[in-house]
Amino acid sequence: MTHVSIKELSKTYPGSSEPALDRLSLEIPTGELTALLGPSGCGKTTTMKMIAGLLDPSSGDVLFDDRSVLDDKPEHRGVVMVFQNYLLFPYMSVADNVGFGLKMRKVPKPEIDRRVGEMLELVKLPDLGNRRPSALSGGQQQRVALARALIVQPNVLLLDEPLSNLDAHLRFEMRDLIRGLQQKMGITTIFVTHDQEEAVVLADKVALILDGQLKQYEDADVFYKRPVDEATARFFGGQNFIPGSSNGSVFESALGRLVLPEGAISGAGKLTVRPENIRINGLDKGENSLKAVVSERLFLGTQTRLRLLVGEEKIDAIANPNEVENLSVGDAVNITLPPSSLWVLPT
Ligand code: ATP
Repeated sequence: MTHVSIKELSKTYPGSSEPALDRLSLEIPTGELTALLGPSGCGKTTTMKMIAGLLDPSSGDVLFDDRSVLDDKPEHRGVVMVFQNYLLFPYMSVADNVGFGLKMRKVPKPEIDRRVGEMLELVKLPDLGNRRPSALSGGQQQRVALARALIVQPNVLLLDEPLSNLDAHLRFEMRDLIRGLQQKMGITTIFVTHDQEEAVVLADKVALILDGQLKQYEDADVFYKRPVDEATARFFGGQNFIPGSSNGSVFESALGRLVLPEGAISGAGKLTVRPENIRINGLDKGENSLKAVVSERLFLGTQTRLRLLVGEEKIDAIANPNEVENLSVGDAVNITLPPSSLWVLPT
């Protein structure tokens, strides 16, 4: 049960002029799961290694329950880290792999056997204790790695892209398993991923890191409704960035005058609206309704993507295929941009 504070944590690798991580600050409450999200090379693994004690920061601090752990050796921090490539001991059985941490701690053999049995039940591998890791599928090996990490009841669990070697079906299954076990055991967890959907589904809070800098640290839904800038919006699948100016309640642009939600900034900016929030030929022809023409149409199975032209301005929308079945390129449509779906970004 540990509250993790990361304060102004920076790392510049020797020989590099740019920091790999630049003054990252995060508060992760006891028992919560935070996702560190960002593209390859943004500094996620660097952050994890500094929390685990595998890498010294250039500056900043890592505190567990308000006490700096920078001088603590990795094995004294109570942190375990699970990597994407499992790193199981190949010549040990599954049971010995899972029980390894307890053996190192000189826990009596009967207790190790009991706890290994419980752990294998929890990760749904009750009958595979005698196998070697090489005789398991990738998903099973990842569950063994998770069991081996959890059995020592760590203060902090670090998961570095643990699902990226698994196929889509197994990823869903593992995601649920990780979330379930993490909540049941109440372990403060940091989960690294480059996949925004994974971050959103798993985490209490998401920290988006781009180029070594924290962009936004919030509940997942805020990234969709109130992104801090265009790069953040784009990372979460945002499209449509229309230049113009805001007076805080109305946005003027090539689209005309559109009513904004409360809290929008004033001044020059870009209006953004997520493609899935645009209503096409709805009944509401009042506030923020515009006339548009369909210029492109792409059927993607569960959704249809439409490119619309409002005058010269392009707007991308995503619709339920049934609702736009009869629309063709060249058709005129009414679109509505509900004020609650609009947001103004600084330019
Ligand atoms: P990925 O998702 O690809 O694992 P990441 O977000 O975890 O990426 P890091 O591994 O933390 O990124 O790397 C951040 C930056 O630091 C990258 O530009 C990388 O090239 C650089 N870097 C990482 N390790 C070292 C090192 N040992 N020496 C020098 N530069 C490094």
